Amino acid sequence: MDQQIELKTIDDLINKVAKYNKNKKELNKIREAYDYAYLKHQNQYRKTGEAYIYHPLEVAYILTSITADIPCLIAALLHDVAEDTTTKKEEIAEKFGEEVANLVVGITKLSRINFSTDNDYLIEYYKKIIVGMSEDVRVIILKLVDRLHNMRTLYVLPIEKQKEKAKETLEILTPIAHHLGINRIKSELEDLSLRYLKPEVYYDIVEKLNNNKLERDNAVNEMLNEVKALLKEHNIKHEIKGRSKSIYGIYKKLDTGRKFNDIYDLLALRILVKTEQECYLALGIIHSKYRHLPKRFKDFIAMPKANRYQSLHTTVFGLEGQLFEIQIRTYEMDEIAENGIASHWSYKEKKTVKEDNLSLTEQKLQFFKSIIDLKEDRLSTEEFVSSVKKDLLNNNIYVFTPKGDVIELPKGSTPIDFAYRVHSKIGDSMVGALVNNSIVSLDYELKDDDIVKIITNKNSQGPSKEWINMAKLTHTKSKIKSYFSSSMKQDNINLGKELIEKELRKKNIDFNLFYSDENIDRILQKYKLMTLNDIYLNIGNNKIGASNIIDFVFKKETVTLPKIGGHVIKNADNDIIVAGIDKVKVNLANCCNPLPGDHIIGYITKGTGITVHRINCHNLNNVTDRTIAVKWNSELTKRYLANIIIHTSKTTNNNLFEIMQRINFNSASIDSVKTLSKIDETVYEISLLVIGKEHLNKITNDLNRLTYIHNIERIIR
Ligand code: MN
Repeated sequence: MDQQIELKTIDDLINKVAKYNKNKKELNKIREAYDYAYLKHQNQYRKTGEAYIYHPLEVAYILTSITADIPCLIAALLHDVAEDTTTKKEEIAEKFGEEVANLVVGITKLSRINFSTDNDYLIEYYKKIIVGMSEDVRVIILKLVDRLHNMRTLYVLPIEKQKEKAKETLEILTPIAHHLGINRIKSELEDLSLRYLKPEVYYDIVEKLNNNKLERDNAVNEMLNEVKALLKEHNIKHEIKGRSKSIYGIYKKLDTGRKFNDIYDLLALRILVKTEQECYLALGIIHSKYRHLPKRFKDFIAMPKANRYQSLHTTVFGLEGQLFEIQIRTYEMDEIAENGIASHWSYKEKKTVKEDNLSLTEQKLQFFKSIIDLKEDRLSTEEFVSSVKKDLLNNNIYVFTPKGDVIELPKGSTPIDFAYRVHSKIGDSMVGALVNNSIVSLDYELKDDDIVKIITNKNSQGPSKEWINMAKLTHTKSKIKSYFSSSMKQDNINLGKELIEKELRKKNIDFNLFYSDENIDRILQKYKLMTLNDIYLNIGNNKIGASNIIDFVFKKETVTLPKIGGHVIKNADNDIIVAGIDKVKVNLANCCNPLPGDHIIGYITKGTGITVHRINCHNLNNVTDRTIAVKWNSELTKRYLANIIIHTSKTTNNNLFEIMQRINFNSASIDSVKTLSKIDETVYEISLLVIGKEHLNKITNDLNRLTYIHNIERIIR
C-alpha cells in the first residue's frame, strides 16, 4: 500500500492568503519568492525524501493560519536560503526589500545556535537570547513555526535526535510560545514533544481518550444544546463549541497525581460572544441555572494574564451531575487566546490607540516581563522596565564559539574579553584569534554573530600587560591583573622558600627536622596563616623574618598546644573535635563564621566551653594563652553560615536577581540579603548556608564570572 502524502503547492498557499489579503501585487510577490527559493533549493532534499522546497512552503502555509502578513510569509519561503545556500542578505534586500531581508537574517541567526542543554540556568539564558536576538517579534514567530513543521516530520530522525529536539522544544520554545500567547502553536508543539519524549505515556492517553470518546461526545452535545437554547432565550447572540483538552495538558495533570477519570470528567465548552458585557451576561444566566463550583470560577477579563489572555472560566454541575468546564469570551479575546501576540494581524482594523502604540519593542518588553519569574516583586514596574530595556536594547552582542555556543558580551568587547569569558586558562594561554576564519588583531571589536576561535599555546608566555588596555570588561582586566599579581606572588613564594632554607643551612638544622607537620602547624597557628606557601610568601615579601620563624620553632618559647590524633572520637555529635575531650560545649564564632575546610582554632571561654574561630580572625590577634587545637569532624555533613560582601557596578539591571539565581543554582540556600549602596557601586551583603569552604569557593568563582561583579569578600566582623 503506498502512503499518500498530501503536499501543498504554491497555489494552495496563494489561495489561502487570498482569503485575507486580496492585493494582487503582494500575492505575486509571494509567488516570486517561491520561485526564487525553489531555484535556491534545487537538488536539495529533506530527510523525509521530498524536495527541500516543501519545508519552507509548509512553514508559510502554517503561518496563514495565524493570518501572518506578507513580509512574514515571504521570509518564511526564504528562511532557509541563507542558511543552506550562499545567498547574501543584499541579494534578498534588493529583490524583496529590507524588511524581508531583516527577517531572513534574524531567523538564520537563530538557526545557527545549538540550544540543546541539560543546564537549567542555560535554559533561561537561551530563552533570553532568542528574544534578545530577535529585533522583530515576527522572527520568533517564524522560529516557532519552523520548529513546528520540523516537529511534525521528526519521525525521520534517529530516536536520540528526536528526544533531543523534543526536549529543546519543550523546555525553550514552548515557554516562549506561551509567553507570547500563541496557544495554537504552543499546544501542538507540546503534544508533539510529549509524543517523542514519552511515547508510552502519550499513546496511553490517546488510547484512553479514544475509548469513551462517543460517550463523552454525546454528553457534550446534549449540554451544548441546552446552553445554546438557554442563551437564545435571553437573546444573546453567540457561538458555542465543545472543546478537546490537549494531550499534554492531560499529561501534566496526571503528573500532579490526579486520576485519569477525574480529569476528563471535566467536559468542556467554549462560548463566544460579541462584547465583554455579554460575557458577564451569559455567565449570570448559566450560573442561575446550573450550580457552579465557586473555587473554580476565574475572571481573566478583569484580571488578564501576563500574556494578555482574557476569558471567564467556570465549572458547573450539568446533566446528570457531570462537571462541565465552560469558558466565555469575546471573539477578539478568543483570537488573542489562540494567537497571542500574532493576533494583531487579524485584528488590525479594530486596533485601539493603545494597541497601536504597542511598538515591537514594547511587545518584547511585555513578553520579557512575563518570562522572568520574579519571585518577590521588589522592583517597581518602572525600574523593572528600564532594567529590561537596558538588557534588551543595550549594548550586548552575541557571538559564537566554533561549536555554535553563544557568548553574550557588551558592545566593544574584544577577543581578549571573549577568551577570558570562556575560561581564564584560555585567556592566559592565548596567542591569537580568528574571527569568521580570518586572523584579527587582539583589539578587534567583536560584532554580532562573529564566530570567534581563540588560538592557544601551552607554552605561551602568558598575557601581555597591554591587554589590560585592550580589554573592554573590568572583569577581564582584573583577570589579567590577577595573572600578573599571582605570578609575582609565585616569585615571592620561591624567594621565601630560598630564604628560609638558606637560614636553616646557616644554622646547620636538618630540613626534615624543621619541616615536620607539628612545626608547620605551630607556625600556621602562631602567625594565623593557612598554608605553607603563605609562610613562604610572608617571608618573601619581608613580613616575617626567616630567622624569627626558626627561633620560634626551636627555642620553644611558647606553650605547646595539645596535639590532635590518636584519640579521635568517632560519631561525635559536635561539628568540632577537640583534642582528647569527648563532651565539651563547642560554638562556632559568629564574628568569622568558620566553615569546614578553614583552618580553625578553639578559644577557651570562661564557663561556656570552647568557641571556634578561623585562624586568621582578628578577634584572636592578641590571644595566645587560652587557645586550644581543634579540628573539623569529617563525619558530619551540615550546613554552615557564611557571610559574603559583593561589590557590583551600579546599574539599573536586575543584578541581584541573577546573583541569587546563581547561588541557588549552586545548591546553596540564602539566609538573608542586605543592599548597602555606596557612592559609585552597589554592595550586597549575603548570608548563605553552605557545606564548607570548597562549596563557598565554587559559588564565588561562579559569581566572579558575572561581569558587573568587581569583588567578593568573605567577612570577618
Ligand atoms: Mn527551516
